Amino acid sequence: MNFELNEELAMVRDMARDFATAELDPRAQRHDEQGHIDEEVFGLISELGLWGLTIPEEYGGAGMGNLALSLVLEELNRADASVGVTLSVHNSLLGAPIMKFATDEQKQRWLPQLASGEAIGCYCLTEPNAGSDAAALQTRAVRDGDDWILSGTKIWVTNGGLASLGIVYARTDPDASNANGISAFLVPLDAEGISLGAPEKKTGIRASSTVEIQFDDVRVQGDALLGEENRGFQIAMDTLDGGRIGIASQAVGIGRACLEASVKYAGEREQFNQPIGRFQAIQWKIADMATRLDAARLLTWRAATLRDEGARCSLQAAQAKLSASTACNYAADECLQIHGGAGYTDDFQVERLFRDARITEIYEGASDIQRIVIARSLMS
Ligand SMILES: Cc1cc2nc3c(=O)[nH]c(=O)nc-3n(C[C@H](O)[C@H](O)[C@H](O)COP(=O)(O)OP(=O)(O)OC[C@H]3O[C@@H](n4cnc5c(N)ncnc54)[C@H](O)[C@@H]3O)c2cc1C
Repeated sequence: MNFELNEELAMVRDMARDFATAELDPRAQRHDEQGHIDEEVFGLISELGLWGLTIPEEYGGAGMGNLALSLVLEELNRADASVGVTLSVHNSLLGAPIMKFATDEQKQRWLPQLASGEAIGCYCLTEPNAGSDAAALQTRAVRDGDDWILSGTKIWVTNGGLASLGIVYARTDPDASNANGISAFLVPLDAEGISLGAPEKKTGIRASSTVEIQFDDVRVQGDALLGEENRGFQIAMDTLDGGRIGIASQAVGIGRACLEASVKYAGEREQFNQPIGRFQAIQWKIADMATRLDAARLLTWRAATLRDEGARCSLQAAQAKLSASTACNYAADECLQIHGGAGYTDDFQVERLFRDARITEIYEGASDIQRIVIARSLMS
């Protein structure tokens, strides 16, 4: 076992780190206040080839794997979690299922656009009555000749306001048991009958686009079907294994920002005639933050490595997300505490980190759901 990154992975991590420091650190607070990401950032991400990081070279991508994506996401999220989740969803929730389940024609049509950032992607699973219980979704897709007609409502769609392509999960066999009658569709989001809701006003990741998408008799061609008919729920769950590695990486990144801010402030702020970092109570918080985050990073890298090897990793991805989101929220809470009253204002960026951290325990399966996945996997 070797814990050193090879030269290629170290290079891509350093490139992401430099980009985050130069371009995201100065913007992150403003992004949060204005509620959207600067247009210029999308172009910079294209120039670095990050939209297509995991897309094969033959389609214009960088052809790297989940471990590389995890390294990049940690760096970007350390600076700006809104940018981080935008890239995570694009790569792991849309690019990945196309690479794994699409026909050659579908790959030719979509992957080059996704690799260049000309098309941004989103993932439409959740509905008003189907959150943790995603298999209860009610969006319908009905055959009409060679076409399909989609009707229903998807909520909480990350990138929904930016995306030109969505993977939409819809019920194609109403008589089958919940998970068995669902299919996945690649839907161009400029299709007639699609309407977007207003941007959600969120606690954190405020610059990330989150909207409701309404599908009213949306006609798509037969070749919009991704994978086999009625096997879409398996695609949704397989995709979430990769997505959870992305969110675990996001959590490690936000947590690292909290750790770094805490170390800095503890060395600067003086009380009782000495820096507060000399008090053992503060040192212990910092020690626990660092240890929990390191453990979470290793679990995340393990899950990413397994996925790159083509192995099943539902258990390991759930463990990584649970561990990383818990470590992240611990770090955010203690970071704010170490900053005292100053942490409770927007003078320092820690109140943003505190708000951004919270989502990692909710989306792509809340922590309770990760525990269910882990327990089922161990007890089955
Ligand atoms: C900012 C944001 C972005 C999102 N982006 C996307 C996206 O791009 N695409 C998409 O499809 N979805 C997206 N989601 C949806 C997200 O995945 C869901 O919010 C999440 O899965 C939880 O579903 P819910 O909100 O309906 O909560 P609920 O399912 O109603 O859960 C409420 C609470 O009950 C708990 N609970 C539920 N069932 C159980 C159980 N069996 N045992 C124990 N506890 C349980 C949950 O853990 C939670 O604490 C996003 C959500 C947010 C907030």
